Amino acid sequence: MAVWAADIGGTAIKLAIVDRGRILLTREIAALPGDGLRHAMNRIAPIWQELCQQTAIAESDITAIGIALPAIVAPESGKIWAVPGGKFPDAPTLKFAAWIDNKFRKPAYWCNDAHAALAGEIKYGVARRAKNVGMITLGTGVGTAIVLRGRHLTGTHGLAGNAGGHNTIDAGGGRCGCGNIGCVETQASSWVLPAQAADSPLFSQSALAAEASVTYEAVFRLARKGDFLARQLRAHALKTWAITATTLIHNYDPELLVIGGKIARSADVIVPFMQKFIRAHCWAKWNVPIRPAALGNEAGIRGIAYLAAKDAKRSR
Ligand SMILES: [Zn+2]
Repeated sequence: MAVWAADIGGTAIKLAIVDRGRILLTREIAALPGDGLRHAMNRIAPIWQELCQQTAIAESDITAIGIALPAIVAPESGKIWAVPGGKFPDAPTLKFAAWIDNKFRKPAYWCNDAHAALAGEIKYGVARRAKNVGMITLGTGVGTAIVLRGRHLTGTHGLAGNAGGHNTIDAGGGRCGCGNIGCVETQASSWVLPAQAADSPLFSQSALAAEASVTYEAVFRLARKGDFLARQLRAHALKTWAITATTLIHNYDPELLVIGGKIARSADVIVPFMQKFIRAHCWAKWNVPIRPAALGNEAGIRGIAYLAAKDAKRSR
């Protein structure tokens, strides 16, 4: 039951061969989202073939293909409705199901990336046995996903539960890639951070100015050392993400909230802050545990491989 899996992000694409939940071999390439989804899939195909050669797995033994996308994906038809920020601009008009069938001739399954990460955490990670779970993935954007009573919340077009990063939290805020204003993502996400830092009058005096690129890894590292701008940006991000967590609890009443994505490497700071904020601000007066993703940055790729294998088995 080996599966070709891809977790397509706004910045990088993670690729793997996964066999019954175990990653056999993995590779990462640049996302190049401006070049489109078809172009990305054409770059992915030969790498999947290489991974087969390196693991001595015949291509004919690949039983399914799983693709996690930073997009709104319809639950039944698989139609890709939207990718925020104009990324992969061909995706909404590309007849993806027909295209992928023609290219690979294998059962394929694709869905929103936060949805895939939550599936991974429920199957193999920190949310095992949980029936009502929320997830926030902190990466290029802010992704969310919700499982209620054991079922992924999708809505009509796949938007339900996925748009936690696109709730307006600043009515006077800037325009987001999704078209809305003042979204969570416009306040604290990897795509907005470099401009936020550069726009600050403190930037030239901050150690962030000497970094090759302004990332939350650098912000958390320099904030620990007392850098004033890094501390300011960290405080703003922590508050923004804690408000997002509070909103998810208010909207969906989960028994557990999982924090994943690349930035969750700083979970030692993020999780205690969120927990304290929620205790002080959330309507819910019961404890909602918050846990970092046990699978770390592999949650998405293991989740999408699991979902693809399950879907292929069902449709056989
Ligand atoms: Zn938005």
